[in-house]
Amino acid sequence: MSACCDSLPTPSPLKTVEQALALLLEQARPLGDTETLPLDRALGRVLATPIHSRVDVAPWDNSAMDGYAVRIADLGETGATLPVSQRIPAGAPGGPLAAGTAARIFTGAPLPEGADAVVMQEVCERQGDRVRIGERPRPGANIRRRGEDIRSGERVLEAGTRLLPQQLGLAASVGVAEVEVVRRLRVALFASGDELAMPGSDLGPGQIYNSNQFTLGGLLQALGCEVQALGIVEDTLEATTAALERAAAGADLVLASGGVSVGEEDHVKPAVERLGRLDLWRIAVRPGKPLAFGHIGETPFIGSPGNPVSLFVTFCLFARPFIRRMQGVSGPLDPLRVPARAAFAWPKAVKRREYARARLGLDDRGEAWIELYPSRSSAVLSSVVWAGGLAEIPEGCTFERGERILFLPFEGLLA
Ligand code: AMP
Ligand code: MG
Repeated sequence: MSACCDSLPTPSPLKTVEQALALLLEQARPLGDTETLPLDRALGRVLATPIHSRVDVAPWDNSAMDGYAVRIADLGETGATLPVSQRIPAGAPGGPLAAGTAARIFTGAPLPEGADAVVMQEVCERQGDRVRIGERPRPGANIRRRGEDIRSGERVLEAGTRLLPQQLGLAASVGVAEVEVVRRLRVALFASGDELAMPGSDLGPGQIYNSNQFTLGGLLQALGCEVQALGIVEDTLEATTAALERAAAGADLVLASGGVSVGEEDHVKPAVERLGRLDLWRIAVRPGKPLAFGHIGETPFIGSPGNPVSLFVTFCLFARPFIRRMQGVSGPLDPLRVPARAAFAWPKAVKRREYARARLGLDDRGEAWIELYPSRSSAVLSSVVWAGGLAEIPEGCTFERGERILFLPFEGLLA
């Protein structure tokens, strides 16, 4: 713990972000079911079995440059003038290189047998059917060797890898056309609250629009989940219980927004307890704090606070890594954290770690500064739209303007 945290008055009874995340990830069971897909439908999916190369890459010795393939023994200290005996474009293997001649060759074309270097065209001068080679190259110059990048049979991608465009390209480059991936995670979600109305309808007295369904749905789709949205659920124990049962029936995971506090109108806890088991954690995080985690039968359940910003941050910090593990991702799940200067001071230490809506701005020297959204309210979704990420402000810390803190770009939190 850093020195600045030692001054906290009493040990906090809340769970730290790390404790909550560890508890959650302990319970994330990767899906076992897989499917085989052609590469062009596998973007964003997670490999269930590793990929091995079917070929050497490069498959044969080839030229790294446009130039002339030569036998070094034919050249003096400053090169030589040689007849051009053949022309070898990419995709057209030539014959063996006759001694005392050069072959015109292009990038990626197979090296002719007998050649031991390629001289780039910039140091050569063509003279009709002859060429002046302007240097004596080192052996192997400008040659890409067979198997230099990848050996046939080598494992190029591990199980548990997410397939981004570059992974798809790599699989294709080793001759693989289909991949076995984990099937899509099915996630059912609903939003609790008697005050909620669907966008597109008119608001009645006391009503607000159900935005969380769409934020959550989008977050889930961005992670490649199949989303089943069950809509708005009344604030009663019966309706909440029925919604949970329905949600769990067809899904691998159930997410709910709202109703996870312990007020009279919050029915998620007793409803989940009727159907299975539930932990309601209080986490030392802001926005956020309460997070419900449990099981309805065998189906895991995560309930987030209804405040739109709390929901967003809670999803990024906790639900996202849980989902990634269920999807079979095996590597580290920590979001990218980039150090940058705070464009604000933090004079008063807080007990709960703060994830403040922030974005990066550049000063005239090109240095990145973290700017904060002016309001800390967890009800203003426009702040998340304004932001480019979250500034992580550790519990118990104070700092001056200009000190370096960590910035978590949304790119790392939403992927
Ligand atoms: P709750 O967690 O149910 O106590 O809700 C906390 C706050 O979030 C209240 O102001 C709710 O009106 C608001 N809220 C709850 N659910 C939603 C939702 N689906 N969309 C937008 N705001 C919501
Ligand atoms: Mg509510």
